[in-house]
Amino acid sequence: MTHATAQPQKITVLGSTGSIGTNTLDVVSRHSQQFEIFALTAHANLIALEQQCLQWRPRFAAMPDTAKAHELGQRLKAQNCTTKVLSGPQALSELAAHPDVDIVMAAIVGATGLPPCMAAAQSGKRLLLANKEALVVGGEVFMSAVRSGQGQIIPIDSEHSAIFQCLPEQPSEWASTIDHIVLTASGGPFRTWPIESLASVTPQQACAHPNWVMGQKISVDSSTMMNKALEIIEAKWLFDLAPSQIKVVIHPQSIIHSMVVCTDASVLAQMGTPDMRVPIAYGLAYPQRIASGASQLNLLKLQDLTFEAPNAQRFPGLFLAWQALDSAQGTTTVLNAANEVAVAAFLAGKIPYPHIVQLNIRAMEHIQPELPSEPQMEDLLALDKRTRAIVSEWAEHSPC
Ligand code: NAD
Ligand code: MG
Repeated sequence: MTHATAQPQKITVLGSTGSIGTNTLDVVSRHSQQFEIFALTAHANLIALEQQCLQWRPRFAAMPDTAKAHELGQRLKAQNCTTKVLSGPQALSELAAHPDVDIVMAAIVGATGLPPCMAAAQSGKRLLLANKEALVVGGEVFMSAVRSGQGQIIPIDSEHSAIFQCLPEQPSEWASTIDHIVLTASGGPFRTWPIESLASVTPQQACAHPNWVMGQKISVDSSTMMNKALEIIEAKWLFDLAPSQIKVVIHPQSIIHSMVVCTDASVLAQMGTPDMRVPIAYGLAYPQRIASGASQLNLLKLQDLTFEAPNAQRFPGLFLAWQALDSAQGTTTVLNAANEVAVAAFLAGKIPYPHIVQLNIRAMEHIQPELPSEPQMEDLLALDKRTRAIVSEWAEHSPC
């Protein structure tokens, strides 16, 4: 937005009470002339959503659960807040596709975010994608919705934002620019633990990421490097790459957020302090830059920047990404669903830590996607559901 008199851009934040959601509101609060909160949505945390509604006075709020949505509506009314509260899963898609909305921040965790992401894409919104699982599940179906909606998808995941920031503005120039990309990974909390001791990892230990403060699911994924596996699949779709063009290096300091190795052997990297407000600010104002609130990098205070190859014995989950991309269509959907179920089972104390990746491997070996040749979103959601049922059963009754 270049003129002070221009209308503020209206934003729907899906998953506003989470880590990415609250960081988004923090960035928006610094630019209230430029952006306006149109709708906020959350799953379980009614009190947090109520507080956000009272602060931001959005036109709409939504909670999938009808009883919760009703209670929120009552509470807001009693406080003279005119926000209209919607409920049901369909409400999220309606708010993502609403004609008055310019920007949708997809900050829901998990495959459940796919339908509203598709709705935003089909209606040509600027879609800020943090919800990587939606793209891992949706794949080509998702990207073709972005193309047909003629909107824009801007990555929020820090690695993909880094790559996006290093690439030419015209996607038509990407193929001739990129030899390959290098996604950086912190290696998580267990990078240096003896491999035998991983059997006793607790949810609390798995959620204690050394460099980033994030939601529980992505924190566990970072510790197993399943997060990087999902990011490999995400990068394939965002940048139209062959799986062999995506490489991963462990960089424990999380200062270089990822790199593009160009066809002329130049390496372009994006650096900064690990703070998600940077990619969020970039996505909101693209192609301009606005203040994010993040602190600047002090190069003179930096310790070494180090790099190491990921070890397949320690991080077997990482390598499932390339395998899934080389397998039948839908295998990435199976992998994602298995992982969501396995992480939830681990967090609930039902399975030991190493079983997360073991369940993912088992799902890839035993669950055939059996998709039609031109699958639709409903086919992918059905495969996601079928996989969840099978893997939940394994997690409950049939240990690895
Ligand atoms: P979080 O758990 O902190 O927040 C998730 C949000 O989604 C919450 O507002 C929650 O209410 C909502 N939600 C959860 N389940 C839902 C459901 N079934 N229906 C509707 N809403 C639901 O998660 P997060 O860390 O903010 O991550 C969100 C997404 O962003 C994930 O896909 C994650 O991989 C991605 N991401 C996060 C970070 C980070 O730093 N946190 C970085 C990169 C990418
Ligand atoms: Mg990331």
